[in-house]
Amino acid sequence: MKTEIALMSEKQLDMHALEKAGRILRQGGLVAFPTETVYGLGGNALDPAASEKIYAAKGRPSDNPLIIHIADMENLRKIVLRVPPKAENLADRYWPGPLTMIFDKAACVPYETTGGLDSVAVRMPSNRIALELIRQAGGYVAAPSANTSGRPSPTLASHVAEDLSERIDMIIDGGMTDIGLESTIVDFTENSPVILRPGYLNQQMLEKVIGAVRIDPGLSSVDSKVRPKAPGMRYRHYAPRGELAIVEGSVEKVVDRINELTRRRLKEGAGVGIICTDETLGSYPVGKVKSIGTRTNEESIALHLYQVLREFDEEEVDYIYSESFHTPRMGQAIMNRLLKAAGHEIIET
Ligand code: AMP
Ligand code: MG
Repeated sequence: MKTEIALMSEKQLDMHALEKAGRILRQGGLVAFPTETVYGLGGNALDPAASEKIYAAKGRPSDNPLIIHIADMENLRKIVLRVPPKAENLADRYWPGPLTMIFDKAACVPYETTGGLDSVAVRMPSNRIALELIRQAGGYVAAPSANTSGRPSPTLASHVAEDLSERIDMIIDGGMTDIGLESTIVDFTENSPVILRPGYLNQQMLEKVIGAVRIDPGLSSVDSKVRPKAPGMRYRHYAPRGELAIVEGSVEKVVDRINELTRRRLKEGAGVGIICTDETLGSYPVGKVKSIGTRTNEESIALHLYQVLREFDEEEVDYIYSESFHTPRMGQAIMNRLLKAAGHEIIET
């Protein structure tokens, strides 16, 4: 299959290409598109065959449910049984935006889309290209991240092409995503709301609107019996080709330890990558050093995390040492993704 690439920006939508993309989706095809979080791989969410195609193109386990993307609030009520008032409040405040909410599903949502669950995840993205595409497609687009299962989520259209070229009908290239990490997921199917996946919107930001929100204990548990509720959070999403370890401690100690480990590995003849920030870029004299952003702007760290991991895969380093990024607002989300990539390999200094 030839994959068509359509280039546009949020400021200048290419309506002709979007109409075509909408037609592809209505006819059961697959289109990758930018959102403010990461690129999504879209298919018609109410068409079981389209959902199956998404799983096949990504090589995604079929018990890992998809998020349905909508562009208009009226459409929410058609795919869920009920919307609790707190969910309504969060939608008022944060939709369109990087928030996914989980509800009991209506009968029209196929089990192929929900991975066999009676609940359904829904999000209204803020990216204008995504919103227009969803409308052109008929209102309901199932879209997981547009990467091969087991690779970092794509923040650029070129990442999507690397993984999915020839396997999908179209890629809409809308430039780099804004946030670079997947949406925050809040579950509304239990008595009180629970965060199943941390993201740009953190616990405090949600609690300001609706009061107490719990965090799924499965997210931080090392006990394999306490599993995360979101099926996707149970997988080791992505393992870099090089062995990744996160070094924790004060800045000076972390820098010293990474330099010491790097020298030792280089002496053994191995290739070594280092993930740091602009503040410490000059403190690592050896190894392949990459800054993922600056600690004065934590958004920059979130935005470049997946890209840097992809770059190290291409450069085929054997070991990667990363500083840790417990930044004030998004630290929980950033460290959640990094720890998963590292298989929870932490070096304490
Ligand atoms: P992705 O689309 O790649 O961002 O992955 C979607 C995430 O949402 C995965 O972690 C899924 O397991 C999670 N998810 C989707 N639907 C549900 C649901 N009904 N219940 C719990 N988690 C869900
Ligand atoms: Mg994903």
